[in-house]
Amino acid sequence: MTSAAKPTVKGGSFLLEDRSPAEVFTPEDINEEQRMFAATAEEFLRKEVLPREDGIYAKDYEVHRLLMRMAGDLGLLSIDIPEAYGGLGLSKVSSAVVGEQFALQSSFAGSQSSHVNIGTLPIVFFGTEAQKQKYLPRLATGEWIGAYALTEPQSGSDALAARTKAVLSEDGKHYILNGQKMWITNGGFADIFTVFAKIDGDKFTAFLVERGEGLVSGHEEKKLGLDGSSTTALMLEDCRVPVENVLGEIGRGHKIAFNVLNIGRLKLGARSVGTMKLSLMQSVQYAKERHQFGQAIANFGLIKQKLAEMTMRAYVGESMLYRTLGAIDEALHEVDKDEPQQVLRVLEQFAIECSIIKVWESEALGYVVDEEVQIFGGYGYSKDYPAERAYRDARIARIYEGTSEINRIVIASQLLKRAKTGELALFAAAERIVASGAVDSDTMTLNLANVLFVDELKLLEGAKAMTLTAIRSVEKTYGDKARDEQECFGLLSDMVMEVYAMESALLRTRRLVDERGEEEVPVQIDITKVFVRDAAARIEQRAQTIATETDDAQGAAVIANAVHKDPIKAIAARRRIADAIINAGKYNL
Ligand SMILES: Cc1cc2nc3c(=O)[nH]c(=O)nc-3n(C[C@H](O)[C@H](O)[C@H](O)COP(=O)(O)OP(=O)(O)OC[C@H]3O[C@@H](n4cnc5c(N)ncnc54)[C@H](O)[C@@H]3O)c2cc1C
Repeated sequence: MTSAAKPTVKGGSFLLEDRSPAEVFTPEDINEEQRMFAATAEEFLRKEVLPREDGIYAKDYEVHRLLMRMAGDLGLLSIDIPEAYGGLGLSKVSSAVVGEQFALQSSFAGSQSSHVNIGTLPIVFFGTEAQKQKYLPRLATGEWIGAYALTEPQSGSDALAARTKAVLSEDGKHYILNGQKMWITNGGFADIFTVFAKIDGDKFTAFLVERGEGLVSGHEEKKLGLDGSSTTALMLEDCRVPVENVLGEIGRGHKIAFNVLNIGRLKLGARSVGTMKLSLMQSVQYAKERHQFGQAIANFGLIKQKLAEMTMRAYVGESMLYRTLGAIDEALHEVDKDEPQQVLRVLEQFAIECSIIKVWESEALGYVVDEEVQIFGGYGYSKDYPAERAYRDARIARIYEGTSEINRIVIASQLLKRAKTGELALFAAAERIVASGAVDSDTMTLNLANVLFVDELKLLEGAKAMTLTAIRSVEKTYGDKARDEQECFGLLSDMVMEVYAMESALLRTRRLVDERGEEEVPVQIDITKVFVRDAAARIEQRAQTIATETDDAQGAAVIANAVHKDPIKAIAARRRIADAIINAGKYNL
């Protein structure tokens, strides 16, 4: 089935609807043109960026600017910019395939992704014609560098509490901005900043601020990781911004701030997936070379277990990421891409999935780089080996673009909101499940003809039932105060993420089995079987906690029906996964 023929998926609907493998986008659907673009990005990183690492880490801004110009010449900065403004206007899948490659140099990736995402997209989505004509062609080539200045010393997650003020000048031609921004990526050398400030202290608004008088960069922050990317504070001291540089509507800056983050979250997910694969390759190669007790450490079961777990996260993470990107690209087919408001509505529709990708991939990456250090042993602790930097660089992924905590709140609150407005019939589905006390309700008619994955499909069905029931319990018990029960929100979000992960892996692997045959994809089958069981157990444990906390006896009955599937020999399966990766020397699924 061509991607254009796939049905449009509604964001957040995966808890209610079953998809068939042919309906979802998988990494195997990445086309030749996209693969070639990725190869161009990889070659650029290897040939131009890596040899200039000393300059990157020395924060030599000329090196950063030179590399951005080179990236611009190759089209690596303009994928999301419409053709009318000097961009390529390609799909989100294309952008992620390229983004994955930047994992090769995380600090430069930080600069590049801030430039192309939060530094450029506010203008793509909210700019006037004149603003787009003026800035986008320069940002597409890397002649100008973009940055996004939302965070302040006193307001991080609570971004709307910003204190930076804007006041209209007496002649009505300028806004005068005063305040301080904090942690601004590309802050040391960017030319154009999307700055958020409150007009007259209350109307939260975005402004396009060119570097110049009144805008002063602070010193470079000394960071745990990404120590080659520029991160500075920004002082706005009577900074005069022409009125025509107001971006979007006055008092509606939050629309820009939050919508742009949705796409930033997806892109960060792509980079996390790329970094997991890189980290896995470094780990496998080291484990094959390093000998202890007369043999390569890759032979030891406990090392194999790590390599298998790392592989599972890369595979599942990749499956979720491309499923989401494919669904968004599909939904974008239905709208006029030259109409930014229509594009934004699509992205808003997928806010739950964007947050899932951000949290799941960044936490999987955290696990992977931690195990990389462990596999390298003492050398993992040394700056002379790659594990140490990978470990430090990865940590930020759980903090920026919305922390893991904030994104968990987004996932749960968005679901509850959509359930309450009737946009997603989650409560009705939960009531049916609870009423029947069973898992296989009318709402979920899975095709169990697939014998290979019959247990896993039942586990998925049970996982959805437990998650829907838990959402119901939280809503029934806490009502409008549910948002204050953050621990429950956290548990719900974990369950929702696990469901999405299980289902994405299952859909991809079933598709592979359909297309290539069981014997061709044994590793993918092992990964899917092991992961689905582990995820189902994690969901069960969280469902139990919520059912107990909310005294939900009906919920407990659903849990009892949802679990206890035939176990598999998971140790042997993990060994097979690890052996395949060790033989290949890298992630090759
Ligand atoms: C390297 C780097 C680059 C960055 N680049 C940029 C950039 O280019 N532009 C920009 O604008 N910002 C940028 N940031 C800022 C970043 O987005 C913020 O650091 C982040 O949003 C968190 O804000 P904070 O640091 O103030 O932490 P806080 O908001 O103070 O959070 C501290 C802790 O409290 C938790 N917390 C906060 N509120 C809640 C809540 N309601 N419920 C539960 N827990 C909560 C958080 O999850 C976190 O664990 C960057 C930061 C870094 C470190």
